[in-house]
Amino acid sequence: MQKLRPRRIPVLFFEQGRKFAEFYIEMEPSPSAMERVLSVFEQYGVDVKEGAIYTSTNPRSARVFGGFLDITDSRAGVEELKEVLESLEGVYEVDILASPFPSLAVCAMHYPLMVLNEECVVFRRSTWEGLLRRLHEKFSSAANIIMYQAGIGTALRKDIAPSTRYALGLGIDQHLNIFRGLAQALGWGRYEIVEVDHKKPSMRLRMYQHFECEPFRGTTNEPRAHFMRGHLEASFKRLFGKEFRAKEVLCVAKGDPYCEIVVEPLQ
Ligand SMILES: [Zn+2]
Repeated sequence: MQKLRPRRIPVLFFEQGRKFAEFYIEMEPSPSAMERVLSVFEQYGVDVKEGAIYTSTNPRSARVFGGFLDITDSRAGVEELKEVLESLEGVYEVDILASPFPSLAVCAMHYPLMVLNEECVVFRRSTWEGLLRRLHEKFSSAANIIMYQAGIGTALRKDIAPSTRYALGLGIDQHLNIFRGLAQALGWGRYEIVEVDHKKPSMRLRMYQHFECEPFRGTTNEPRAHFMRGHLEASFKRLFGKEFRAKEVLCVAKGDPYCEIVVEPLQ
């Protein structure tokens, strides 16, 4: 299996005794523009502590580089640094905000958070677990139905991104692998497609650290991936135009080593 590495979204940076600024730079999509920006950072003694690089979807497909800078030893104020960066060849737009807090910077220049060109919401695990536990405490087995119905509501839509329309034209193996990659990148869990029957079609999906079940590891006698069951059933129906049933046959919540869902057409 491919080694998976954690990914951080830059939302806050803390280091005792240091001073930080948040930055956002749009530049032409070329390594030389990036090199000029980095050499200014080097020249001014500022250090990129955390950040992200991506290609903007605006008409000029600008390269975006942003995150947090350590400006403790900067040889200039942020205004001067901004001016110098703006004057560079191939740099379109620069924004730099010095953090008003000592030792800490919190994101002040980004909204909304975008994933796959769509606005998105992120829950940290502690928040998510609180939500899920409360749901099960208050509604007991009805919580399973709520999660299942919620999952159905999130089925793959045909009317969204071009990348989704593209994926819909692919074979089932490629489609499932794209689904697996997306679900992993979005933090739903670590997944392995262990069996696919192209004729039926059917699938056996193994899930490690699945977001619905992990909070209940070894604490119940029933499976907990109800959202995923609903999501898979409804998505398979979208893809293949008939009814499917998804059953979680193994689950960490009831003491199994991993979760496993089997998706099959309803006879
Ligand atoms: Zn499970």
